[in-house]
Order: sequence, then structure tokens, then C-alpha cells
Amino acid sequence: MTLLLRVLACALLLVPPQLPAADTQSFISEKPYPVANIREPEQHLPVNNVILMIGDGMGIHHLSAAWAANRGRLFIENCPVTGIAKTWCRDKLVTDSAAAGTAMATGTKTLYKRVATCPEGNKLDSLIDKAKDMEKSTGVVVTCELNDATPAAFCANNEKRSDSYGIIGDYPRSRADFIFGGGSKYFTQRPDGRDIFKEMGALGYKIARSWEEAAALPPGKTLAVVAPGNLPPPGKRGAVLRQATLKALETLSRNPRGFFLMVEGSNIDKAAHHGKLAEMMEEIFDFDRTAGTVLEWAARHPGTLVVITADHNTGAFSLSGGNLEKGEITALFSSGNHDGVAVPVYAFGSGSGAFTGIYENTDIFRKIMAAMKGEENKAVPVKKDS
Ligand SMILES: [Zn+2]
Repeated sequence: MTLLLRVLACALLLVPPQLPAADTQSFISEKPYPVANIREPEQHLPVNNVILMIGDGMGIHHLSAAWAANRGRLFIENCPVTGIAKTWCRDKLVTDSAAAGTAMATGTKTLYKRVATCPEGNKLDSLIDKAKDMEKSTGVVVTCELNDATPAAFCANNEKRSDSYGIIGDYPRSRADFIFGGGSKYFTQRPDGRDIFKEMGALGYKIARSWEEAAALPPGKTLAVVAPGNLPPPGKRGAVLRQATLKALETLSRNPRGFFLMVEGSNIDKAAHHGKLAEMMEEIFDFDRTAGTVLEWAARHPGTLVVITADHNTGAFSLSGGNLEKGEITALFSSGNHDGVAVPVYAFGSGSGAFTGIYENTDIFRKIMAAMKGEENKAVPVKKDS
């Protein structure tokens, strides 16, 4: 045996295979933001307004990391009520955003990749439709393309979340009054020749193609599509999630019958898929500060219920160490995919008490429906196989 072969044999037999290095990352928040104490108003007033905030992919580990990096304070922690929601979908233990969004938007556990469509293929009404049936105003504010799974589950129906043109083609028949997000490239120059901006303009929507244009619009039906794809990261887009959410609240709250608004921190998940810790933290901070804006608004408007949760957990993310005083964290993404861990639910304001406990993501729909119908103090039965 030659020396070379002998060396190779030793290398193969004696040296244990090296496992890939754990991808531990560090982050320090250089600019922690101040967090105010926000007092919850009277819980037992009838619910007129509901704001559902979804941090895409944002589990308790992600929030704990943000809490530590912001020196032990988060706006979300002003919510006095917490619960736990299970996220599995009809055909998989580990869901995607389409099936998870559908569960919260419609109360039905559906198949992976479906938006507001049941396993048998029928279209499902979302909380937007249900609120509209109660003569409430409605809206969605997101930082992703409007064809992305979460807004699609509230505003469209499709068996394929990847059918971007088909989903955007549903927006003219969506019953949302205030729509803010990205994805303008799917509204025009479409394979079917339709111009969705023109169609929605004819339906009475005021169209904005930038935040500045949206800010200048008078209150009324609004379609603001401010980026060709997803909105850029917070460092580039600025405070538009907070600003657009506040504009939506000011617009929708003109209806004395109240409103339903869904706000999504859409890009937390995207950063987590790519294991980009700093980017993910900036998105969570932006979402938390938006939660602060929403909670402060709700505190001034009794009769408002705020529910803050996630659609699923992303990245098998863990907070492995750090320093609370320095706002320093070390953390680890163990996968580039979603995982099957239950997610936290935080609630604030009228009817918030119903959100304590352990339940299915479909029960978030049921509890919001009960609240909007004035049944918030009754127990909501948990359907095991919904
Ligand atoms: Zn995802």
C-alpha cells in the first residue's frame, strides 16, 4: 500500500466525519427603542373593532431574542392575555403560510399551499367577508407582495398559493376597503391582459403607488401597492408599516359599526428562511413597534380587540445566549424551513380574555367571530378536526 493510500485509509477510517458547524450568529441592537407602558382599557365592553396582527414565522424564540436585544422590553408585552395556538394543517404536521393563513382567516384546516380554499376545493369566506357581512369596514396591511399567502388567505381564493396572477386577479372582488402592500408587477402586464389597478379604480378605490401618495389620499376605499415585489427591509422602507397601519385605523374607524383589520409583519419569515439574523431582528422590531402603535390606538378607542400571533414558527430558531444589558444575543437557525412548534397568541382590549389557553389556529377565527358577534364572554368550543 502506498503512503498516499495509507493516509487516505486513515482519514476515512479513523477520523470521525465532521458535522457541519452549528451556525451560531451574534447580534447587538445598537439603537434600542423606548417601550411605553400601555394600559388595557375595559375588557368587557362590546367588541366593535378587531385588529389581527400576524408576525409571519415569528415564534416565542424569535420574540425572546427581540426582547433581549431591545434590553428587555417589547411593546407586545403590554398584552395582558396570552395563549398558545397549534399550527398543523390538514395534510402536514408542519404547515406553510397558505394553510396557516387560511386557518386563521376562515376557521378551516386546509391542505398545504391552499389559500381560503377547503380540502374539497370550495372557496371559503374570510374574516374580511364575515366582517363585511356585519357591515364593518375591512382592511389588510402587509409588507410582502399582496399575492403572498397571508394576505391572499384574507382577500382571494386559490388552490395554489404560487398562482400570483390568479390571486391578484381576485382582488377586485375582495371585500377589503383598505389594502396596503407590494406586488405591483402582478397588477399590470398580465398574461390575461387585465389591468387590476384600472378595474379597482372603476370600483371606487383610490390607487396609490407609493407611501407618499397613499398618505395624501382622503379617507375612503384605498389600494396602495407601493413596491413591485416585497417591500424592502425596514432600514430602507422606513416606518411605512406603522404609518400605513395608522392610516388604515384612521380610515376604517370612521364606520360607526367598526372594522376588521389584518396587519402582517410579512418578512420576518423570509429572513428566517435565509438564516439572516440581523435582518430578521429588524423586521421583528418593526413589527413590535407597529404593535405599539396599534395598542396605543386601541387604548384610546375602547371596544377594540387586538390579537397578535404568528402563522407558524420558522427556522427552528433558538436563543442560545447573550447579554440583556448590552442587548447582545447569540442565536441559531437549525433549519431553513418552517417547523411544527405551537406559536404564542397575545391579546389586548375588549374580549381579550377569550384568548387564554391552548387551542387550534382555527379557533383564532372562531374567537374573533364570537367577539364580533358580541359573544366574546361565552366559551368557544374547540373543534378537534376542523
Ligand atoms: Zn415561510
